[in-house]
Amino acid sequence: MEAQESARKRCYRCLLREMDEAAYMETLYRHIERLDKSVKADQALYEGRLETCKACGYLEAGTCQACGCYVELRAAVKKSRCPYKKW
Ligand code: SF4
Repeated sequence: MEAQESARKRCYRCLLREMDEAAYMETLYRHIERLDKSVKADQALYEGRLETCKACGYLEAGTCQACGCYVELRAAVKKSRCPYKKW
């Protein structure tokens, strides 16, 4: 059983609904960490964007209710834009 759980957490072809929350979060942050430098926002830009999201009424549990994205993922991509042009 433990081996099955471990194998499931390493599955890169799983849908989100097939992953437990910890595995899902790990996947999300790993994706951000591994973004190519040419597409990744620098740390100052990333943190500034997240500060704006933190003060925004559309933020709910890490998700932008205006567009449905995970704000940390959106903010990590240099060319991304806020749907309401707040950043
Ligand atoms: S992306 Fe824009 S609209 Fe969405 S939570 Fe962030 S600041 Fe608000």
